[in-house]
Amino acid sequence: MASVRHIRLAYNSAYLIESGGERVLIDTGPDYRGAREVLAAVVAESPPGLVVATHGHLDHAGLGHWWQEQGIPVALHGEDMHYSTGHQLDDDELQALEGFVRESGAPTDVEREALAGLAARRAWARQAVETRDYRPAGRDARWPTGLRYEPFEPRRVLTEEVTAIAPGLRALVAPGHTPGNLVAFAEEEGWLFSGDQLLPEITPTPAIQRFQSAPGAPWRFRSLPRFLESLQRIRGLDATRCYPGHGEPFERVTDVIDANLGQAEQRTTRVHEALRENGGATLYELAEALYPRALRKRFWQIISTVQGHLDVLEEAGLAATSGGRWAAR
Ligand SMILES: [Zn+2]
Repeated sequence: MASVRHIRLAYNSAYLIESGGERVLIDTGPDYRGAREVLAAVVAESPPGLVVATHGHLDHAGLGHWWQEQGIPVALHGEDMHYSTGHQLDDDELQALEGFVRESGAPTDVEREALAGLAARRAWARQAVETRDYRPAGRDARWPTGLRYEPFEPRRVLTEEVTAIAPGLRALVAPGHTPGNLVAFAEEEGWLFSGDQLLPEITPTPAIQRFQSAPGAPWRFRSLPRFLESLQRIRGLDATRCYPGHGEPFERVTDVIDANLGQAEQRTTRVHEALRENGGATLYELAEALYPRALRKRFWQIISTVQGHLDVLEEAGLAATSGGRWAAR
């Protein structure tokens, strides 16, 4: 029987699993002032043989560099390497995102605000990668200090659908939240280590993420359809207990998955209905019809949500786009 130790690191939860005589840590932990000390005590007491980052975001993989300095290899999926190597929001991706905003049909002033927001996000991401000092706490103050993200090349790059990471413990590819998102599953116990794929309180909306822009043909990862497919696949595991990347472990895993899937389905239906009433609308016009008051203030969140559901509808053959305008099918 495997055992789990829950390591709380500010807003994040990492889990030290012992299974079949081997130890694996799920998620590196975020790099804020004091986090390394907490983890150094873990290393002194019961060092893991491997650290698996569920995905490349800085609060889940931000201490990858440090772990490898301790001589402990970090595994990350190949599709998330652009995060850990410091290439998130590089010129290519930024350019593709700017193109996305322009094509959304947003009025000029909204477009300007959205692009400024993007520039700020990039500056923030760059700072986490480049700074050697801990920054003051951010506005949301979920971490005692701002996060750092020292770039690193993971010693184990995962590419398979399923990878054994310890006896009785597998890493499964679950794209959506990020392109190379992973969950871990302890088969015998029915324990799911869900990262950001499944959280007790919120349904995470996968963001618009475009990170490849071939000349003239920018390619966008369709995050929401992939996220929902991953959720369906994870449902099939019949997990009995979930250890999420944020918050406390919970049971009734299938109920939480069904609630998430149900909520997504309702939203897809709403977007489909709005599309029927506003045939020929741009992405922005559609978002405005659905969220008239909040759109301006929460542009990226709302535009990501609406685009995600349009992707779902398009893949189901229920919506089509031509020249930046959307229509129901
Ligand atoms: Zn994340």
